[in-house]
Amino acid sequence: MGAIRDTLRRLAPARHVAVMAVTKARSREEALMAVQAGVDAIGENWVQEARQKWGQEKPPIPLHCIGHLQTNKVKYAIELFDAIDSVDREPLVRALNQRLSAVKDVMLEVNIAEEPSKWGLKASEVRPFLERLGPHSKLRVVGLMTVLPARRENSEEEARRIRHDMQEMAELWRMCRNEGWPWAPLADLSMGMSGDWEWAVEAGATMIRLGTAIFGPRVG
Ligand SMILES: *Cc1c(COP(=O)(O)O)cnc(C)c1O
Repeated sequence: MGAIRDTLRRLAPARHVAVMAVTKARSREEALMAVQAGVDAIGENWVQEARQKWGQEKPPIPLHCIGHLQTNKVKYAIELFDAIDSVDREPLVRALNQRLSAVKDVMLEVNIAEEPSKWGLKASEVRPFLERLGPHSKLRVVGLMTVLPARRENSEEEARRIRHDMQEMAELWRMCRNEGWPWAPLADLSMGMSGDWEWAVEAGATMIRLGTAIFGPRVG
């Protein structure tokens, strides 16, 4: 974490970039070590795994849901997570609003590169989605989240494409934030993973999500 923080200070000297430790397939003990090392948040992909790990005692820092959330798991997700960063469709909004008794922080997940294999709204769907939410929703949209295409080739061309997508994502985020919708303060842009977080910070990410870079390669 020390080296990561050093790089963050160099890339973004004027602001604090939040580091989320992504703890899928990591033990509670490993996750708590990352907390000790100073990460700002914990991200879990699967409700069932997260309940086993944190159901008895939550981590001392915010716990985020970053994986695809099925509507039939909404009840548990609301209980367990401080924020749900993977809101991406109207039926999920309806299920959350039905179950919620208090306002919940969420992010909208955006599939900025429009990969067919990925969840998330298309860029063009984000503004109308936010407008439709409106002031009566119990969801407070605190950010946008995206998963960029994985790096496969390490070519110049690929790097250019990914950085271009990151720029587009940052522009979309700023444009929506500038609307000033009271239900969508959009303080955060959650973008960048172990393979590309430095580019994401350069493009304006306020939160990066790191698994491998903190814990090493996943086994199994
Ligand atoms: C696994 C995962 C990450 C972290 O991936 P690494 O490449 O290990 O840093 C970040 N975000 C999401 C949504 C993930 O599923």
